[in-house]
Amino acid sequence: MAIGTFQAEVSRVRDLTHDVRELDLTLRQPREITYRAGQFISFEVPKEGFPLPLTRPYSIASPPSITDRVTLVFNLVAGGPGSSYLFGLQVGDHVSFKGPAGSFYLKEDPSRHVLFVGTGTGIAPLRAMILTLVEQNNGQPIRLFWGLRHERDLYYQEEFEALALRHQKFSFITTLSQPGPGWTGLRGRVTGLVQERVKSVRDLAVYLCGNGGMIKDVEALVQAKGLCPIYREKYY
Ligand SMILES: Cc1cc2nc3c(=O)[nH]c(=O)nc-3n(C[C@H](O)[C@H](O)[C@H](O)COP(=O)(O)OP(=O)(O)OC[C@H]3O[C@@H](n4cnc5c(N)ncnc54)[C@H](O)[C@@H]3O)c2cc1C
Repeated sequence: MAIGTFQAEVSRVRDLTHDVRELDLTLRQPREITYRAGQFISFEVPKEGFPLPLTRPYSIASPPSITDRVTLVFNLVAGGPGSSYLFGLQVGDHVSFKGPAGSFYLKEDPSRHVLFVGTGTGIAPLRAMILTLVEQNNGQPIRLFWGLRHERDLYYQEEFEALALRHQKFSFITTLSQPGPGWTGLRGRVTGLVQERVKSVRDLAVYLCGNGGMIKDVEALVQAKGLCPIYREKYY
């Protein structure tokens, strides 16, 4: 899978929360993309006062079984050139990106249980991997622990609930670190979930994506329980 340059058109824009947006980019030239679930694409974006564009990577949130378009999920970072560029795009706009790239992708190992742990938009590559595993239907247990802050940050909950109903081997838990008093779901960070609910790392593979603090902490917690493969994608 060589890295290439793609021309695409924005075919859908969907606000998932107050500051998270989903974009579908339908490929125009070439018309198809081949990648591994978990990989990313990169945009060159302008930054005020800088003569050269900056490069910003974004994970593909859709599974590789969809070859004619890619879905991105991203949050607005105030004043950030990459996220501001993506937030400025509208249906019908033309974009150019490079990719696919990255070594954070789903490893073929149906004998292992899979644990995905993500924070915020770190869900993007995990979603691509989960949808791929569910399509493969190998019978391996798949768990997702997802950390967000407030109720207003929740998205994809119905999608994952529907997936869990259809596929008994998939389960997910969303935990909020700063919920309001009325929140009846889980509270706290994903690290707490890993500490309490991962009883054994035997035959387990762990995929982590999100902020560096979470990745470091979860990695240490998992390693304290024993040896198993841990794959990471640090966003910042
Ligand atoms: C391999 C890879 C894949 C990525 N995929 C995605 C993705 O699918 N969706 C996505 O939203 N982001 C993703 N990111 C982060 C993304 O590339 C940018 O870093 C992010 O959009 C901020 O860029 P910016 O130019 O808007 O702001 P910048 O000016 O570059 O960032 C300002 C500061 O914001 C912080 N920051 C960076 N990312 C975030 C974030 N997501 N939330 C809160 N604060 C942040 C950092 O501390 C950073 O120094 C990915 C990063 C990597 C390395």
